[in-house]
Amino acid sequence: MTGMNNILVDVLAFGAHPDDLELAMGGTLIKLKALGYRVGMVDMTRGERGSRGTAETREAEAKAAFEIIGADFRENLDLGDQELADTPERRRAVVECIRRHQPSLVFTHYLYDRHPDHENAARLVKHAMFLSGASNAEAEGKPHTPKRLLYFFSHWMAEPNVFVDISDFYGQKIRAAKSYTTQFYDPSSREPATHLSRPEFWEDLDARFRWFGTQIGVKYAEAFWMREKLRVDDPVAMLTKG
Ligand SMILES: [Zn+2]
Repeated sequence: MTGMNNILVDVLAFGAHPDDLELAMGGTLIKLKALGYRVGMVDMTRGERGSRGTAETREAEAKAAFEIIGADFRENLDLGDQELADTPERRRAVVECIRRHQPSLVFTHYLYDRHPDHENAARLVKHAMFLSGASNAEAEGKPHTPKRLLYFFSHWMAEPNVFVDISDFYGQKIRAAKSYTTQFYDPSSREPATHLSRPEFWEDLDARFRWFGTQIGVKYAEAFWMREKLRVDDPVAMLTKG
C-alpha cells in the first residue's frame, strides 16, 4: 500500500469507504490484475465515522485486503467520512488523483444508494472525470480524459448492463473482504450491530453474485452500469461467443 504516488494505471477504482471496493468489485480488480492490467484502488475517506472499528483498524484491514487483491497501489484521499459532498476542494483532489494516474477506465459507486457518501462519491467522481480533461480546470496535473466510467452497486440496485465473470476469483474476493474483521459478524464483538455485521451477510453476498452469474451463464459475476452505449463492430464475433 502506498500513499500519494504517480503510478500510471489502466484502471482506477474509487470507493467512499475502505471495504466498498472489495465488496462490490473485488473479483473484477483481482481478474484485471490476472489479465495483466495496472490497477489502482482509491478510498475517498478513512471510514472514521463508521459504527464499528476505528480509522486505524480500517487502515490495517484495508492494507490486508489490498495485499490479497494484489493491486498496484491503494491510496486514501481522506476527504471526510459523512462529509463527501461535491465541493470545489474535494473535486480538485479527485481531478488531481485522476491526472496523477491517467486511467483508461474508472469505476465508482452507482448514482443512487442507501449511504449518502456513496451517492456523493458517484457525483464527485463523475464531475471530476469531466473536469480532468479540461485544461482550464482549477487543478494541478496533465489534463486527462478516461475513456469510460462504470458504476458498481453497494445496496440499491439498478439494471446492470456490464457483467464480468469472476467465477475463478470469487474465493479470493471473499478472503479480501473478510480482512475487515471489525465490520462483519463476530459473536464476541460488543460493537453496534449493522447491516454488514448480520450473520447472514455472507450468504446474501453469495446470492447476489450467483444471481449476477446466472445472467451471463457463469457461476459468479460482478455487475456494473455504464451510461454510454456499447459500439459493436462485428456483431457475430462479439455476440455469439460464450
Ligand atoms: Zn461505504
